[in-house]
Amino acid sequence: MIHAYAAKTAGGKLEPFEYDPGALKDEEVEINVEYCGICHSDVSMLNNDWGMTQYPLVPGHEVVGTVAAIGDRVKTVEVGQQVGLGWYSHSCMHCEWCMSGNHNLCLKAESTIVARHGGFADKVRAHEEWAVPLPEGIEPAKVGPLFCGGITVFNPIVEFDVKPTDRVGVIGIGGLGHIALQFLQAWGCEVTAFSTNPDKEAEARKLGANHFVNSRDPQALEKLVNSFDMIISTVNADLDWGTYISTLRPKGRLHFVGVVPSAIQTYAFSLIAGQKTLSGSPLGSPQTIARMLDFAVRHNIEPVIETFPFSQVNEAIAHLEAGKARYRIVLKH
Ligand code: NAP
Ligand code: ZN
Repeated sequence: MIHAYAAKTAGGKLEPFEYDPGALKDEEVEINVEYCGICHSDVSMLNNDWGMTQYPLVPGHEVVGTVAAIGDRVKTVEVGQQVGLGWYSHSCMHCEWCMSGNHNLCLKAESTIVARHGGFADKVRAHEEWAVPLPEGIEPAKVGPLFCGGITVFNPIVEFDVKPTDRVGVIGIGGLGHIALQFLQAWGCEVTAFSTNPDKEAEARKLGANHFVNSRDPQALEKLVNSFDMIISTVNADLDWGTYISTLRPKGRLHFVGVVPSAIQTYAFSLIAGQKTLSGSPLGSPQTIARMLDFAVRHNIEPVIETFPFSQVNEAIAHLEAGKARYRIVLKH
């Protein structure tokens, strides 16, 4: 039996929950969970904000742990090895997307917490390819948030070929945003943090922001017309996207990784003049995750975390929902 924490209803508290995972499949690995970060997506899934939650829901998709068992055909990891697991735990491995290294775009990709039970548990299972080995020199207690928050902001840097000479903005300095600042600074970019919270300014600058701007101040934004090559939005709230588009330089990109509640509206002309792009992306492939981990080790990048025991998971979620997390909560056994 796997011992987990599950919610039985939308918005319900997490309670101890046991389930029988059945026989381990040939290409699956079972991970003994040691740490698991809490992403805002766990909260959105708990509340069924996206209409795809199945209850009982065991959240948790920023897992770090040790491989406890492997299926008969597993070749990529060994029992006893430390691995991380993020939002995806399975992809088909055959389609054009998997075959071209874009496993995160596989149309049959399965999420760790949709229609299966996630990492708020003593054990969790995944396809071998998605259990990514931890490299030497990384701190297991801190690295869980890289497997969702980190890869989600690292992937667009790679995918859209961000250059060290680029000026890049990050909107929302939370779990994803505080890691984005570190990656972009190490990448060589001029980095601007957009935040609603002036208390975060000193830390944002320490993490890599060269500039700090109030994300909800129209006058501050208007001064930044024609400033950015790329802006990565990590907020889960509606902002004045038209004004943000005007802060892009020609060929600039406004890129969404945060799930904003309303439709994103803008005039075609705001994109046509200046040849601008709106885009979005989900996490990254296992190969890009490995590349990110290597980059993080080389540049001493690590999430800034607060640790809670698994037994206080409800308090930890309340802390995140109150906007108090600095900057990612990690649960620990
Ligand atoms: P988080 O830690 O709660 O951070 C979100 C940040 O957004 C907050 O820290 C806050 O930053 C800002 N924010 C919140 N409410 C706001 C408001 N009303 N107006 C303006 N700014 C606001 O959340 P997270 O874990 O980083 O996740 C962020 C989003 O990314 C969520 O929607 C999550 O579901 C999504 N996500 C997407 C993917 C993907 O694959 N694309 C992967 C992971 C997560 P300031 O305090 O600095 O203003
Ligand atoms: Zn996540």
